[in-house]
Amino acid sequence: MIPTGRELSLCGLCREPILWTVTEAGNRLAVDPNPAATGNTACYRTGPRAWKSRALHGVEALPRQPWEDVFMPHVATCARANPVQTELPAVLPPNVVRLDLARQRRALKGARRNATR
Ligand SMILES: [Zn+2]
Repeated sequence: MIPTGRELSLCGLCREPILWTVTEAGNRLAVDPNPAATGNTACYRTGPRAWKSRALHGVEALPRQPWEDVFMPHVATCARANPVQTELPAVLPPNVVRLDLARQRRALKGARRNATR
């Protein structure tokens, strides 16, 4: 089942259309408006402008039922909710410290210490 245009809202961050659903736990979950084979959320209409959703990836999750369609949660595709960090410049300004290298060294040291025990 495909939601009608009247059932859709706009995402507050990226302004793309979304469909609001209610999960089995009673929480609101926004999904992309078109069914997606790669999605992990089964959705079905329960009444006018009312959609239920449930996760399909849980250990105890039932397989998709004939009355359900699979959608992608919007948070997974929202361009504004998933900002991409720009690559660090090769030469950093003198007042900036690269923490990732120090963390790698510390992790290696810890692994070596644990291996000798
Ligand atoms: Zn969005």
